[in-house]
Amino acid sequence: MRLFTCPACGETVFFPNTNCACGAMIAYDPEERGFVPLVDPCRNREIIACNWTAVEGGFCRSCAMTEVVPDHFRDENLALWAEAEQDKRRVLENLAKWGWFTATDPGPSPRFHLLAEETRRGEAQVTMGHANGLITMNVAESDPVELLRRREQLSERLRTMVAHYRHEIAHFLFERLRGRDGFLDGFRTLFGDERADYGEALTRHYENGPRQGWQADHVTPYAAAHPHEDWAETAAHLMHLTDILDSALAAGMRTEALTNPDYDPYRESDSDLLVTTAAGFGIAMNHVNRAMGLADAYPFVLTPAIREKLGFVHGWVQGRYSPVR
Ligand SMILES: [Zn+2]
Ligand SMILES: [Zn+2]
Ligand SMILES: [Zn+2]
Repeated sequence: MRLFTCPACGETVFFPNTNCACGAMIAYDPEERGFVPLVDPCRNREIIACNWTAVEGGFCRSCAMTEVVPDHFRDENLALWAEAEQDKRRVLENLAKWGWFTATDPGPSPRFHLLAEETRRGEAQVTMGHANGLITMNVAESDPVELLRRREQLSERLRTMVAHYRHEIAHFLFERLRGRDGFLDGFRTLFGDERADYGEALTRHYENGPRQGWQADHVTPYAAAHPHEDWAETAAHLMHLTDILDSALAAGMRTEALTNPDYDPYRESDSDLLVTTAAGFGIAMNHVNRAMGLADAYPFVLTPAIREKLGFVHGWVQGRYSPVR
């Protein structure tokens, strides 16, 4: 994510800001890609501190994609909803850099159901997932304690709501891309045949764990469960890596590999350079985190086989193999 400037005083403001230190009330305009004076706020601004400008209907582009909001009979759920929408805006803004789900994207956008487990009618079972353009998110995981508990339970190296959004939206992107010339052939060569029984594959994964040697060509154990999950995990990592690089450069970090001061990782066409440079920042961040006794920021190993898949995802998601349409 880039850094932004306050329209009133010109000082740096961050993507989630609703106001500047100078006192100006500001909003992020996702079409202009910058902060503007607060004139036309999203209708959810007062409720969940959404800081985007409104489009038609009074909601911003991101809130307009949310069809069902959490039952906010209690304040805790309101806070979870606010956190969940903030992470969603970040992921959507990243994808907009490649043209996805913007005003000029002629294809459909995903729809979201953001659901709470604690409802006025009692405990609800909420399973995150994607089906036919509908993404279900469990806002219980916007609570950091709950997130950590589940991460430990599943022995995962990374579990965040941002990662959940990237994974589920990746399933939707697959649906948008599957009909393009050459996509499925290339996909099946690298990821395997996605027509393999999905239910059976997931049952096997949860009963026996990932197959031996999954690390050689899968970015996470879950990616080894089924080609669809491999795509979603790999695409999520491409989004993680691109945002790591974009954010590191915006924060003033530099690397010898990139000398152009106006370099934009979202326009990089050399997938290997993008992945290698981003992963380099990931390793650097891990090192810095250890100075504070914190966990690694990017605890993953990218083998040549995984990089090849990342390159495939990159070409399609970036619109280089076939423009966003
Ligand atoms: Zn200001
Ligand atoms: Zn909004
Ligand atoms: Zn999935």
